[in-house]
Amino acid sequence: MVETCRPEDLKQCLTRLKEKKWWKFAGGTDLMIRKRQWSGAQRNFKTPVMLISNLPELRGIEEFEDRFEIKPCTTLSEICDDARIPEYIRTPLFQMASPPIRNVATIGGNVCNAAKVADSIPMIFALDGEVVLKSLEGERQMKATEFITGKYQTLIKDDEVLYKVIIPKYKPDVFKYTKLGSRKGNILSKLSIYGVAEIKDSRISKIKLSIGALNPIPIKSESLENRFVGLNAKEFKAIKEDIVSQYSSLMGAVTDKRSTKEYREGTALKLIKVFLNEIQEKME
Ligand SMILES: Cc1cc2nc3c(=O)[nH]c(=O)nc-3n(C[C@H](O)[C@H](O)[C@H](O)COP(=O)(O)OP(=O)(O)OC[C@H]3O[C@@H](n4cnc5c(N)ncnc54)[C@H](O)[C@@H]3O)c2cc1C
Repeated sequence: MVETCRPEDLKQCLTRLKEKKWWKFAGGTDLMIRKRQWSGAQRNFKTPVMLISNLPELRGIEEFEDRFEIKPCTTLSEICDDARIPEYIRTPLFQMASPPIRNVATIGGNVCNAAKVADSIPMIFALDGEVVLKSLEGERQMKATEFITGKYQTLIKDDEVLYKVIIPKYKPDVFKYTKLGSRKGNILSKLSIYGVAEIKDSRISKIKLSIGALNPIPIKSESLENRFVGLNAKEFKAIKEDIVSQYSSLMGAVTDKRSTKEYREGTALKLIKVFLNEIQEKME
């Protein structure tokens, strides 16, 4: 039988994490799959399990002038149902899994699990989101693109919890999110494209773009995004194809049981063009 504990508050949680290694368990919707064995057998937890989803310090959403701060154990349903959350944050979360899963699955679990197909991560990467990690020693804040270092790999230490996901606010003139899967509900992404663009005085002021489920971590290139900034419709049209081909060179999809490398990369390029064409139309 696996040892479990349910700390009463964050201080107790961090103190216990300092004493020994615990496997943090939020909604459990990733863990119960990753730790399954054969049908009917107990989950294969070799490390003691700490239940953290009840901790009040790890739940809730705060809105500031320039950002949202979402605590990690806030469920996907709670985020989607919160009237303050704009469509460009809600949409990818609302397309994850199914209502029963979204009622227990947390944003922190999706980020910390760092699966290649995790659907909140392309949105957080694109929007230049950050994470705050907390331990007894204090807090560490970093870009989400630095925090996630590979498939199922992050910079979190055993004595830390993810404490906040910080998502800057935008006023998108164009917002595009496409998730491709084999069916509509309860399906992991074969590919997802997330993009927002802001236009000011007929010039692009921001483009934020991320491509999920192709590479071990979502593709996000600040240098390519910056090449669009300040362009008018004519200038944008002139460099669009070149930038699309540079995104192509960042892609490293593999063929697996869900679909082929060629299908994934070809479709990703088409969807990036659809997003850029919408921006073009908006500016003309
Ligand atoms: C049927 C089904 C459908 C699904 N569909 C989708 C989908 O469409 N898209 C998608 O992206 N995912 C999907 N998932 C995966 C899963 O539901 C999500 O990734 C979910 O957000 C995980 O959250 P959780 O709270 O259940 O994580 P848990 O399983 O509790 O934890 C996941 C990992 O995160 C760590 N962790 C959790 N919280 C913290 C914290 N605060 N600090 C440090 N570490 C932490 C845990 O230790 C663990 O390693 C699906 C799962 C199922 C079972």
